[in-house]
Amino acid sequence: MKVISILNQKGGVGKTTTTVNLSSYLAKMGKRVLLVDMDPQGNATTGIGIDKSELENSIYNLILDDVAIKKIIINRKENLDVLPAKIDLAGAEIELVGKISRETRLKKKLDEIKNEYDVVLIDCPPSLGLLTLNALTASNDIIIPIQCEFYALEGLSQLLNTINLIKKELNPELNIAKILLTMYDKRLKLSEEVSNEIRTYFKEKVFENVIPRNIKLTEAPSYGKTIDEYDMNSNGAKAYYEIAKEVINSGII
Ligand code: ADP
Ligand code: MG
Repeated sequence: MKVISILNQKGGVGKTTTTVNLSSYLAKMGKRVLLVDMDPQGNATTGIGIDKSELENSIYNLILDDVAIKKIIINRKENLDVLPAKIDLAGAEIELVGKISRETRLKKKLDEIKNEYDVVLIDCPPSLGLLTLNALTASNDIIIPIQCEFYALEGLSQLLNTINLIKKELNPELNIAKILLTMYDKRLKLSEEVSNEIRTYFKEKVFENVIPRNIKLTEAPSYGKTIDEYDMNSNGAKAYYEIAKEVINSGII
């Protein structure tokens, strides 16, 4: 089982969109996938079509109450399960501070199900707090979505520093697997400039395919659908399909 965090402390760069749609395509390609929603906003949970108000337990109860992981996991479709989040998870950030092994709680829980999935994708919150630390301690790999816009590189060095710190202190195996360029607009010179800059710096770490700006990707979650369910012929769908193929072909999973 490979555990991959979708990480960037910036909000609105496409973490949740990537987690949901990559999960869906990898499941379609036959991988057994667990999507973990680590963001108190619960956007991945809602976006994939789970009604948060109906949840008896969520990831909060896994991390802080020791509720069994299998009692919380929801099957969404063939090969795709979800560990859902809701707003109570925001409290965990503070409640974890005084707890023993506060950074390794998610890892311990995921270890219990390591024979049941090929890949776990974790949708990280837009911060570098204890929830993100739990995600990174549990992960083998990181995928960093970067939005092709003016402030794309801002905050990136802080992110890389944090990753290095976690490697040193908590998880020596942690590896940046890939950078994903999102919301690429081929009409804008800026998109190309950002893309060139990122590729010059990160080289083969950058996915060859980019995710274009595509309205269908924005619409799909409001119907609780993944992009392949909502409009499989859209440019957004085709792009995430290609990214899923790259994930498999590059040997990340
Ligand atoms: P994050 O999880 O990093 O905060 P989201 O995945 O929630 O980012 O994306 C932020 C917003 O941008 C959402 O409204 C989402 O629907 C939209 N969005 C994400 N990717 C694209 C895209 N490629 N094209 C158009 N809109 C997108
Ligand atoms: Mg998000």
